[in-house]
Amino acid sequence: MKKKLQNSITNYTARSRPIGVGKRAYIKTFGCQMNEHDTEIIMGELSQIGYKFTGDPTEADLILFNTCAVRENPERKLFGQVGDLAALKARRPDLIIGICGCLVQQQTILERIIQRLPHVDLIFGTHNLHRLPYLLETVLETGRKVVEVWDEDQGIVEGMPVQRVDDLKAYVTVHYGCDKYCSFCIVPQTRGRQRSRRAGDILAEIEELGRQGYKEVMLLGQNVNAWGKDLDPPADFADLLWRINDVPGIERIRFTSPHPRDLTDRQIETLRDAPKVMEQLHLPLQAGSDAVLYRMNRRYTQADFLRLVEKVRSAIPDIVLTTDIIVGFPGETEADFQETLKVVEEVQFDSAFTFVYSPRPGTPAARSTEQVPEEEKRDRILRLIALQNEISRRKMEARVGRTEEVLVEGPSEKDPERLAGRSRGNHWVIFDGPRELRGEIVPVRITAAQTFNLFGELTSVPAPAAAGGRA
Ligand code: SF4
Repeated sequence: MKKKLQNSITNYTARSRPIGVGKRAYIKTFGCQMNEHDTEIIMGELSQIGYKFTGDPTEADLILFNTCAVRENPERKLFGQVGDLAALKARRPDLIIGICGCLVQQQTILERIIQRLPHVDLIFGTHNLHRLPYLLETVLETGRKVVEVWDEDQGIVEGMPVQRVDDLKAYVTVHYGCDKYCSFCIVPQTRGRQRSRRAGDILAEIEELGRQGYKEVMLLGQNVNAWGKDLDPPADFADLLWRINDVPGIERIRFTSPHPRDLTDRQIETLRDAPKVMEQLHLPLQAGSDAVLYRMNRRYTQADFLRLVEKVRSAIPDIVLTTDIIVGFPGETEADFQETLKVVEEVQFDSAFTFVYSPRPGTPAARSTEQVPEEEKRDRILRLIALQNEISRRKMEARVGRTEEVLVEGPSEKDPERLAGRSRGNHWVIFDGPRELRGEIVPVRITAAQTFNLFGELTSVPAPAAAGGRA
């Protein structure tokens, strides 16, 4: 076991041997934005040693699965997809197959991967992403399977190469891990305790993004607004937001996911006052019943949550409020579920990510003997989705006639003749306009709404220098 240095910082050492020149890599990413950003780092590392990328696994020299332990059936999906590659590996023994990410941080799953997927060459975890070039080199040189999974981090590695998939919006991790230990969640085990990056390192990364022409940053952390609590001296997430607000070039700041318990008055004031911090807040409710919230170890009550929403809405009446809700948590009764519906009715979230509870091995909730039958969970989630969709549709329709500032991302995927972009509240807006507007922030008058999309027309095309800022 290596000695842990709390929040020690090391700088990434680039591997100079170009072992990937002439080779292509295919990466399959499961799960959340944190994983998507880890994949951008993996691509950065691979690119530095010469790899190019392909979307077709059959033409790849390296196939890597970046796994998730949070979403449903991740293990089954992984075993199915990697299992299917056994025949390809038999035909092409030089193909390297790798697995990384949260799933392999769980000892029992790691053992099953090693036993049941013998054609996998490389396995590494969430704490040693920076070691990928070395591990890959070892596989290539020795021809042996390499398994390196650390059960805890060895501090923060700064300066990791990143190959970003977007050139307007960028993910920036502000802290790793989580200290909250919600009883349904595997993250504290797979990602470790909370470790915040230093403000200076985060700002340096964002300043560089601003110089490169990025317009928007999405700050990532499992419990993002707890950033800084573990620093010495401790810092407040609101201070970080204000400092990012001053970065030239960056026009928009978003963050995910905050925890209700860590949402301070200063953070709410910052949401209201910092011009580049978007009027959008994803505030996970998880459940409406106090009994369920207690068993989830969320450490707030329904009344606490409602008070917080009231505080946020009185500071920023127009805020777009979204949430996460789990139904069918162990022991959840119909009466408990009715409390969730009651909160959804009362808060009127703009949208919600709804999940049917499914046990994650190794979490306290998975050991509960009060698991809710599947048909009850299904019935509850359908009722919840029906209610939330109706609320979402009404809230979207209420935007018709308003003018929204939209960051133009390019042609709409569904209708490439039209443009699409995000409003300040993060709604997807589709409208007509010239393609040269990509990257500009433009005013769009909303003319129609669906449950998940807004449609509109350009009211004017501002000069690029005048774009952005709060109306
Ligand atoms: S705060 Fe989020 S990441 Fe942390 S334990 Fe709870 S659900 Fe998991």
